[in-house]
Amino acid sequence: MQEAPKIEPKRFRHFIAGNFVARGPCFDKLSPVDGAKIGEIHEGGAAEVDAAVIAAKQALSGPWGKMSASERALLLQKVAAEITRRFEDFVQAEMADTGQPRSMMEHAFIPRAAENFSMFADLIKNVSAESFMTPTPDGASALNYALRVPKGVIGVICPWNAPLLLMTWKVAPALACGNAVIVKPSEETPGTATLLAEVFAAVGVPNGVYNVVHGRGAGSAGEYLTKHPDVAAITFTGETTTGAAIMRSAADRIRDVSFELGGKNAGLIFADCDFDAAVDGIARATFINCGQVCLGTERLYVERPIFDRFVAALAAKAESLAVGPPGEQATTLGPLISGEHRRKVLSYYDRAVADGAIVVTGGHVPHVRDDLAGGFWVQPTIWTGLPKDSSVLREEIFGPCCHIAPFDSEEEAVERANDTEYGLATTIWTRDLSRAHRLAAKIDVGVAWVNSWFLRDLRTAFGGSKQSGIGREGGVHSLEFYTELRNVCVKL
Ligand code: NAD
Repeated sequence: MQEAPKIEPKRFRHFIAGNFVARGPCFDKLSPVDGAKIGEIHEGGAAEVDAAVIAAKQALSGPWGKMSASERALLLQKVAAEITRRFEDFVQAEMADTGQPRSMMEHAFIPRAAENFSMFADLIKNVSAESFMTPTPDGASALNYALRVPKGVIGVICPWNAPLLLMTWKVAPALACGNAVIVKPSEETPGTATLLAEVFAAVGVPNGVYNVVHGRGAGSAGEYLTKHPDVAAITFTGETTTGAAIMRSAADRIRDVSFELGGKNAGLIFADCDFDAAVDGIARATFINCGQVCLGTERLYVERPIFDRFVAALAAKAESLAVGPPGEQATTLGPLISGEHRRKVLSYYDRAVADGAIVVTGGHVPHVRDDLAGGFWVQPTIWTGLPKDSSVLREEIFGPCCHIAPFDSEEEAVERANDTEYGLATTIWTRDLSRAHRLAAKIDVGVAWVNSWFLRDLRTAFGGSKQSGIGREGGVHSLEFYTELRNVCVKL
C-alpha cells in the first residue's frame, strides 16, 4: 500500500480588496487523515471584517456596481471555466482540508462549484420582474414595474463538510445579482475559498467583489461579520444552534437571513422497493463523506417483511468500506474532519450502547495502518433496538452511522419520519408511486427524494423546514434572497 502523500504546510491569508493580507494571529489546521499540521490560518477579527466591508462597498459603488447583468454573467462564466482549468488544484486543496476520497471531489464537490457559477450566470440574464398597468381614478392609468436591485454587501458563512460546493452555492447567485460578498470559510477548511480568490483575480473580477476573512465563529471573524452594520444580509450554512446565534446578531439591524441548518433525516424503505437499489442508495446516504452530509440519513425505517434482510445487507455495505487517504483509489471512507468532531461522534456511539442499542456493526475507532494512526477515523456503524426517545435518534450526529427500526404501516412510517424537530430531507424507497407521492406530501421536509438521494437540479428550491432552516435557495429562489424588488409607479 502507498504512503499517504506528504503535504507542505500552507499559510492561509485573508483576501481583501483584491490582495492577500496576512493579519491577525495564526491557528493550526490539522490533516484529518493523520493529524499532522498542514497549514496555519490567520484569524480575522473586527478590523479585518471592517476592511473587507469597506472594500465590498467600494466595489459596489465602482465598476462592479455599474456592470450590466450580462457583463457580470460573462465574468462568472469565466470563473466557472477557470475552476475547471484548475480542477486538480481544487481537488488537492479540498482533499487536504477534508480528507475525503478523491471520487467525491471529482464527481461532486468541484464540478458542482463550477456549475453553480455557470448556472446562475445563465439565470440572471434571463430573469424578468413583474409589471402591471393599473387604472387610476381620473380614468388614466399608471405603469407599475419592479426593478431587481442587489442588496449590497452579503456575509457568507460556511461549514466544512462540502466547503467549495456549499460556498459557491451562495457566492455565485449573490454575485450574479450584483452584490459583493465577504466569505467566512470554516476554520477547518480554508483551502478552496482561498484558491477561489486566485480565480477571481485571474479572470478580472473587480477588487472587493469577493473577499475572504478567515477565522472562527463566536468572538472571531464569523461573529463580527454578523454584527457589522453595513452587511445587508447573511447567508449561512451550518448547525442549528449557530443559526440561532447568528439570528440574534442579525436581529439588531433587521438583516435578512437565509439559513441551511442541521438535519436528522429519515429514510423510509418499503417491502416493494427495488431492494438492491435501496441498499445502494441508503449506503450512500449514510456513509458518504463519512456521514458528514446534512442530507444524510441517520434514521432508517424499514417495512417489517424486509427488515432483517435490509439490516444485513446495509451492514455488509458498511463492512466493505475501505478507510484510507483520499488520494488512494481503494479508499471509500475518509476520516471525520477533526479530533473534536470525532469525540462528539464517539460520544453518540457510547450513548447508543448505554441506551440499549444492538450494535449491528462498527461502534469503535478502526484499526488503521501506522502512518494514519493520528487521523480522525471512526467505524461506520449501524444500530437497531433504540427507544424512540434516545438522544441518538433525536440529535444530529453527523457521522457514518444510522439506526434502523421496523414499521408495519404507511401511517406509522410517516409518524416516525416526522417525529423530529428537524425538517431537512427524506428519502422514500417504494415501487408504488402513488404511495411515494402521498408520503412526500405528508413528511415535513424541504426535500423529498423518491427512489433516489442527493439528486439535485440547481434550479429547484433547496432548504429546510422546522429547525433545519429559513428560506429557500436555488434557481429563482436564490434571486429572491439576493435582490430587493423596488416597485416603480409611473402615472401615464
Ligand atoms: P457550525 O455551525 O459549527 O459552523 C459553520 C460556520 O459558522 C463556520 O464557519 C463557523 O466558524 C461559523 N460560526 C460558528 N459560530 C458562529 C457565530 N456565533 N457567529 C458567526 N459564525 C459562526 O457548522 P459546521 O460544524 O461547520 O457544519 C456542520 C453543520 O452544518 C451540520 O449541522 C450540518 O447539518 C450543517 N449543514 C447544513 C446544510 C444544509 O444545506 N442544510 C449543508 C451542510 C451542512
